[in-house]
Amino acid sequence: MSKQFDLLKPHLDRAMALQTAMVLFEWDNETLAPEKAGELTGNVIGILSGEYFQAVNNDEVKELVKACKEDNDLTCEEKAQVRELSKELKKLDCIPKEEYQEFARLAADSARIWSIAKKEDDFGMFAPVLKKVVEFQKKFAGYRAMEGQKKYDVLLHDFEPGFTMELLDKFFQMIKEEVVPLLKAVKASKVLIRDEFLSGDFTDEQQEKIGCFLAEYVGFDFSKGVMATSAHPFTTNLHNKDVRITTHYNNNLDSSLFSVIHEAGHAVYELGIRDDLTQTLVGQGASMGMHESQSRFFENIMGRSRSFWVPIYQKLQEAFPKELSEIGLDSFVMAVNKAEPGLIRTEADELTYSLHVLIRYELEKELIEGELDVEELPGMWADKYEEYLGIRPENAREGVLQDIHWSQGSFGYFPSYALGSAFGAQLYYHMKEEMDFDGLLEEGNVQVICRYLKEHIHQYGKLKDSRTILKDTTGEDFNPEYYIKYLKEKYQSLYQLKQAAPSDR
Ligand code: ZN
Repeated sequence: MSKQFDLLKPHLDRAMALQTAMVLFEWDNETLAPEKAGELTGNVIGILSGEYFQAVNNDEVKELVKACKEDNDLTCEEKAQVRELSKELKKLDCIPKEEYQEFARLAADSARIWSIAKKEDDFGMFAPVLKKVVEFQKKFAGYRAMEGQKKYDVLLHDFEPGFTMELLDKFFQMIKEEVVPLLKAVKASKVLIRDEFLSGDFTDEQQEKIGCFLAEYVGFDFSKGVMATSAHPFTTNLHNKDVRITTHYNNNLDSSLFSVIHEAGHAVYELGIRDDLTQTLVGQGASMGMHESQSRFFENIMGRSRSFWVPIYQKLQEAFPKELSEIGLDSFVMAVNKAEPGLIRTEADELTYSLHVLIRYELEKELIEGELDVEELPGMWADKYEEYLGIRPENAREGVLQDIHWSQGSFGYFPSYALGSAFGAQLYYHMKEEMDFDGLLEEGNVQVICRYLKEHIHQYGKLKDSRTILKDTTGEDFNPEYYIKYLKEKYQSLYQLKQAAPSDR
């Protein structure tokens, strides 16, 4: 162990402790906190976040970081922590403090105005503040850019290190060329998939019971985690002995079933991080995209497969006899894989999901790099939905106002969602060569799959970026062809479409 790092460590520990406290408040806010707690709790969080800022951003820490960078005795784990910290410091150093604080105030305001504008379906109310947010993000990215680096690439790097616009342009072009025609063929197919039995008067208790079972079945450890309810399902990780998920209950059974499996996928990732990395700056998932690859792998590739349900479908039927006792396994599996273009990203099926992301990518890239004016967004949004999904939003609430991300200044975040699906597909085809994937699922042996993911991905936390993980695990750099192949195989078979000629991709 390095002497310099020894001196730095108490500062890092303090910062992590403060962060853990803030994360716990965030979790509490979304789950159990009483309605009126907000304002006073906000004061506490304000003080904690100031302390956090102070803990990492002071002269002593800066000196120690400099010394650590010159110290050859650092282990690779220590180096990774210093790397993450200096990334954080650089971000703060490039941006003048007053502008940083001004933006923090603006972002809070903007998210609040966005939520009112969405409720009232009034884009005009949101447009001026969004314009300011875009201006700030462009300015900040400009401060932070290395010579010759594009602004959008700077923002992208915050969520997906190792990826650039150049790489994403190719990825999304492939999605446009392959998925748009595939969806057209699905819509033209004569195959009708019944799914009315997935709606009904399911009680919260019934759904909670099966949700807990499913979470545990896919590897969520209730001695190191809890499950609560919130408006939108999410996962919170404090450290690898405390990872929490939420779900929601409504009249659509598949919504809670698959959101539990999705969040459990995020949680299993965090629970699998090595003990020597947890509670450090590298003790979280590698990137947004890699995280989403695990949750979507659990939810879609594993969770919506026929093999997954073979050993447990009867249990589901017994839990919901009125709706499911007459429904066979195959009908159930078809129903939960039905593809139908819709306007709302978070409700999209596996096939149309990436098209929602494609639209956001094209627009945000134009906002940051091009000349797109905020006022033009609703029209462009609607045109693209019509072009790619064949449907047109009637209002801004179901259109450009649906997501919170841009209001908070999160540009470069959306691509991670689609990248996650593509990472998952690449891992899946490789795993099929390494193990009898479907056979394991049919035996109810999910643990072998989880162990593989832990060994190759989860344990490392942020020690490796997503492209390195893919290369080390599959022997190949990021290759989106697997994702296209996966979608084609799945939906051509489900909707009995003509297989493409062999020369096609
Ligand atoms: Zn997710």
